[in-house]
Amino acid sequence: MDLHDKFCGALLGTHAGDALGMPLEGASAASIKKRYGEVREMLEARLGKGTYTDDTEMMIALAESLLRCGDFDGADLANALLENFSLERGYGTGSKRAMELIRAGTNWEEVGKRIFKDGSYGNGSAMRIAPVGCLYHHDLHKLKKVAYASSSVTHAHPWGKEGAFLQALAVAKAVASDPEDVLDRTKYLQDLKNEFSADSPYLASLEVIEEHIQIKPDVEEVVAKLGNDSRAMNSVPTAIYAFLTHNHSFEETVVYAVSIGGDTDTIGAMAGAIAGGYRGKSAIPSRWLDVLERGTKGANYIEELATGLYNLHEEIVNQR
Ligand SMILES: [Mg+2]
Repeated sequence: MDLHDKFCGALLGTHAGDALGMPLEGASAASIKKRYGEVREMLEARLGKGTYTDDTEMMIALAESLLRCGDFDGADLANALLENFSLERGYGTGSKRAMELIRAGTNWEEVGKRIFKDGSYGNGSAMRIAPVGCLYHHDLHKLKKVAYASSSVTHAHPWGKEGAFLQALAVAKAVASDPEDVLDRTKYLQDLKNEFSADSPYLASLEVIEEHIQIKPDVEEVVAKLGNDSRAMNSVPTAIYAFLTHNHSFEETVVYAVSIGGDTDTIGAMAGAIAGGYRGKSAIPSRWLDVLERGTKGANYIEELATGLYNLHEEIVNQR
């Protein structure tokens, strides 16, 4: 397995899925189907074709912080999120509030707790988690700790943190699986289920995925059963479902993910992170890679971050 290609795939897969879904954000599955049939090519978008949104911007911040510190550092992540923050990328309410608190000098451990009543359970901390899923895919105990802690900076509600952990775990399991073998979907799902308790909404959704993995119901039914909105529990399992039902192809996973409608950029980004972590950058269609934005922090920079994470991973593993 080419682990470097997989790390690049997870990070660029986030960007590609985010960019494919961005122009469709908020549209229903039925309206996407009526207007486009199927979305298989990058469309013109608010910030231009191939541009990314808050999902990828926050992922960049998380990767930068992990590389700068060699490990998770909450204060540094809070600063990195604020440094990268640009409102035009379309941030959610919870994340915007978090940026205000960080800017005001609030301690990073307090920020997440001051958003909404018990913290946010939006999907903001799950959408950015690919670097954690890659870096700690060999150490799931560490992965869980970092996923929870990195979530708490902006999304401190237990369901927000669990959502970030589930997405990190889904990426990690994909990175650790050889795409040359047939993916054992039953085992993949069981490994995810084992991490969640009976009262978790994520366990219930993973069971729904298990029931529907063979029958591939209409997209409308997927929306009804798993959701497609910006709450973590209504989008992380949906992205996992898109991957598991289309794991033969990066392109098919992401095309399906954005066809589900709703929070399309994020469901696309999360499905892209998992499928990219599984099949690698080499499986991302070149016609998509060619149009991804290439500014200072564009696709080339994202690939450099992935290479940095790969090198850091090698260092961590060799030290053990
Ligand atoms: Mg977004």
